[in-house]
Amino acid sequence: MNTNNPEIKVNYQMNYPAGAAILQEGATGDCAYIIEKGLVEISVLREDEKIVLAVLSEGDIFGEMALVSGDVRSASAHALTPTSLSVICRPYFQEKLAQTDPIIAMLMKLLLERFHEARSKLLSMSKVCLLDLKPKKRDSDLTAVNTSQRETLERFKFINELQSALDRQELVLHYQPIYLLATGILVGFEALIRWNHPLKGNIPPSQFIDIAEDTKDIIPIGYWIFETACNDLKKMHNSLDGQTNPTLPWMSINISPVQIKDANLVGRFAEILSRCGVKPSAIKLELTEHVLVEDPKQALLFIHNVKQLGMKVAIDDFGTGYSSLSYLHMFPFDILKIDNTFVANIISDGRSQGIVNAIVALSKNLNIDIVAEGIENEALAAVLLDLGCRYGQGYAYSRPLPVEEATQFLQSHAG
Ligand code: C2E
Ligand code: CA
Ligand code: CA
Repeated sequence: MNTNNPEIKVNYQMNYPAGAAILQEGATGDCAYIIEKGLVEISVLREDEKIVLAVLSEGDIFGEMALVSGDVRSASAHALTPTSLSVICRPYFQEKLAQTDPIIAMLMKLLLERFHEARSKLLSMSKVCLLDLKPKKRDSDLTAVNTSQRETLERFKFINELQSALDRQELVLHYQPIYLLATGILVGFEALIRWNHPLKGNIPPSQFIDIAEDTKDIIPIGYWIFETACNDLKKMHNSLDGQTNPTLPWMSINISPVQIKDANLVGRFAEILSRCGVKPSAIKLELTEHVLVEDPKQALLFIHNVKQLGMKVAIDDFGTGYSSLSYLHMFPFDILKIDNTFVANIISDGRSQGIVNAIVALSKNLNIDIVAEGIENEALAAVLLDLGCRYGQGYAYSRPLPVEEATQFLQSHAG
């Protein structure tokens, strides 16, 4: 998968059959490898004779100097058995290094450079000295990979899999209906992503969106989400063709903070909307407070631009952040989504009810519509309606549904 910036390729997986050369002494290199599976022999050639320096196994790293210096390889590596490797590329490493504490980054560079110097000196020694360098068998060579190595390896594997999930068509959108509480008419859907992992089954977004944001894969994934949701909305609208004066539902789409840093975002959204034949006013983009806190200026510009195009903007998970109320004045939101946590407590806890009351009053003043999330039963819906919430979604009405079921649902619930 391509990230938006081709320079920042995160990492990927490579498989080698037994006997294959992975890297050659003297060749240039710009990535390191973590062994996921298999055995790798590290060797140098001296006076036409191969000297084996080490045999590495699962969890071991090699080729690491290239990450720092990009120097030529000081040894060769061959797969002894069928081998899977996670490849860590230099731009990724450098980006991560730039983000870390500068003292830690400096120390790490220094240590790696010193290690490199020492190793270069040793490698330039005679064959006899090199033979002495051959590692004595340590217990740790034989024991299983330790827990933190295993966790690192797992995370690498997960990132690799996530990067190919889009190409392998393992990502799907489900759509949760949104209702006008007073009439029970279906007025919109929220697009919610799911990952159908071939081995792990259905992985919820809470387990991979953060990682996709970290690796910036949320940028291509986000375009896929937007385009899929627009296409599906168009199909849903078309499915109502035979009905008299149907309420055409809107589509709410979650936008992550990383996406709005992408300078092409709004232009590409406009292009996708026109390609799919969807009116911008049928799309509501949901932003959480993270977007607003991270870079208020950029968030304001983004909101301004998408509204200029005709899309609507919602503040999501309202009430979970630190200064939500002030954001209502600072940013021109069309919709406010009250977080599940308030909604769940509204019957048992007078304070939650008080907070919702205040939010509703303020929103009315500012001409902002309210959607209550996480309505799990009818009693909650009744209280929310009483408090003045206009729209709602939750398991009481429907869980998020695959597109075919959502379309059928729409046909029976549209006004
Ligand atoms: P969110 O935007 O607040 O989405 C609402 C979450 O509440 C969804 O969880 C939905 O399935 C769940 N939900 C709906 N009705 C009920 C209910 O009655 N009770 C309870 N307890 N929960 C309910 P989901 O699908 O697991 O998504 C979790 C979060 O992952 C979302 O929270 C959103 O922040 C993120 N996410 C999901 N899809 C996307 C996406 O396409 N893009 C981005 N950037 N983030 C997404
Ligand atoms: Ca949302
Ligand atoms: Ca929410």
